[in-house]
Amino acid sequence: MTTAIPHDTTPLFTALAAADEDRIVFDLTGIETGYERLRRELPDVSVRFAMKACPVDEVLACLVRKGAGIDAAGPREMRQALRAGAAVGSMHYGNTVKSDRNIAEAHRLGVRDFATDSLEDVAAIARHAPGARVFCRIATSGEGALWGLGRKFGCPPAHAVRVLESARDSGLTPSGLSVHVGSQQMTADAWSAAIDTLADVLTTLRRRGTHLDHINLGGGLPALGYLDKHGRPLDPPLEKIFAVIRDGIRYLRRVHGGRLAFLMEPGRHLVADHGAVRAHAVRLTRRPGHDGEDRRWLYLSCGRFNGLYETDALQYRLVFPTHPHARYVSATVAGPTCDSDDAHSPDHAPVRVPENLASGDPVWVLSCGAYTTSYTTRGFNGFAPLPYECTGGTDSETAR
Ligand SMILES: *Cc1c(COP(=O)(O)O)cnc(C)c1O
Repeated sequence: MTTAIPHDTTPLFTALAAADEDRIVFDLTGIETGYERLRRELPDVSVRFAMKACPVDEVLACLVRKGAGIDAAGPREMRQALRAGAAVGSMHYGNTVKSDRNIAEAHRLGVRDFATDSLEDVAAIARHAPGARVFCRIATSGEGALWGLGRKFGCPPAHAVRVLESARDSGLTPSGLSVHVGSQQMTADAWSAAIDTLADVLTTLRRRGTHLDHINLGGGLPALGYLDKHGRPLDPPLEKIFAVIRDGIRYLRRVHGGRLAFLMEPGRHLVADHGAVRAHAVRLTRRPGHDGEDRRWLYLSCGRFNGLYETDALQYRLVFPTHPHARYVSATVAGPTCDSDDAHSPDHAPVRVPENLASGDPVWVLSCGAYTTSYTTRGFNGFAPLPYECTGGTDSETAR
């Protein structure tokens, strides 16, 4: 193979260059390094990986070995995390949506910490996981995030007080408060606003005699390698976000008085930039559009139904490794299926692609380590789910 690697010889690029079939590659060394950096930036925060962002055994095992706990959404995720070596004591049921049966199953598995946001859910937890600890999720606006989560989840501050007091009255331990400021949150202000709200609720609860032991600042930490839907680099103010969170922790501890532990549930931040897809060009075409003007389309072997679903709000960086010095032209990039939603940009914004790209040429899709495996369909239109491969990591038995 005559793959020329452009300007990058990281393990991820080396693995992409070595792949001659489509696959998704995870760089475990990159994930470990990112985890260590997050711990250095936020030394007071315990990390519980939101595993839906990358439910891959080797990735879970790698993060667990580094000391991460797990934010799981239900018993099936819990069982997978336990198989990957996670300790049940550093795992919580982070989903506010759960059936009686799932609560009982989680309790049987040994999980003792449950997220909640409603009186009905608290009653169910009291019945099916007696004595458990519950933390209440406060709703956020979702402003500033690529994907807000404020409507489906969380309750207003006054209701959180009712929810936690009803937990106490039904024999549960009201243990904490949580927020999620929205996924790929692009502003530090979102965390400041959430911290102010948390401070108000903590103060009210304390006055009324309920003392919590932790705050869960949720997910939302951004990845750095995405392009926005128009193809411009998204440049999240990560340093500022960390600084606001560090200040917020000091402030909340002051407001609270007693001991207060902090958790976060990063998902995409830990994995997005350390995974990439080796895809290939299906065909570069040129044909008149509705307006009669010629338009180019680049169809790739991978799209929304192979897991690149987040192209509903962003674009991924593409690399054309066999065309380092090509003449570039503008084309709309789309996936291989017969569904018109299967495009690489919500507005069909054109991307620069090599003019002489041929069917079969490799195309690398960067920063898609988060959510790609979990959003993959079961072979929509007969296009098989991508196999995966791991490279690097301190445990060298991870490649398969
Ligand atoms: C999905 C999810 C996360 C992770 O969100 P990211 O934006 O990927 O960091 C964290 N916590 C909960 C409860 C979630 O549902």
